[in-house]
Parts: sequence; C-alpha cells; structure tokens
Amino acid sequence: MAEKIRLKVKCHACGNVMEGTAKYGKGAYHPDGLDFEFTAVGKIKTPDGRTRVKGEAVIVCPECEVRNKYEI
Ligand SMILES: [Zn+2]
Repeated sequence: MAEKIRLKVKCHACGNVMEGTAKYGKGAYHPDGLDFEFTAVGKIKTPDGRTRVKGEAVIVCPECEVRNKYEI
C-alpha cells in the first residue's frame, strides 16, 4: 500500500510556495521533494468506505525558516 499525496503549502510568513509529494508506507508519510516531519493524528473514513490516515505535516520554509503546519 502506497498512497501518494501532493502537498502544496504556502508559507504563512513570507508567501513562499513549497510543493512536493509524499508516499504513505510503513505507518508514516515519507517526503519526496519536500522536507517535512509527519505526525499521524488519527484515521478518517473516506466517502467510499476506505480508511486513511489523518496527519499533520510540519514544513520548514527554506526561505525564512518559519515552521508551517499542514493537515493531511
Ligand atoms: Zn517563509
């Protein structure tokens, strides 16, 4: 199982847009193209009945080093 997600996060401090993807595997999202820390906060049910992980990613802006939170 490898669920791939796209991340697009706008820095709340300087407006820099960071883009990347992450792949789900082995109980966590693994960043691909973006450097972020991922924390799973629970599970959600999708409308089609599947379960997926709900999580929070913290991305450090490469421009100004502000930490941005992003919900997956
Ligand atoms: Zn920034």
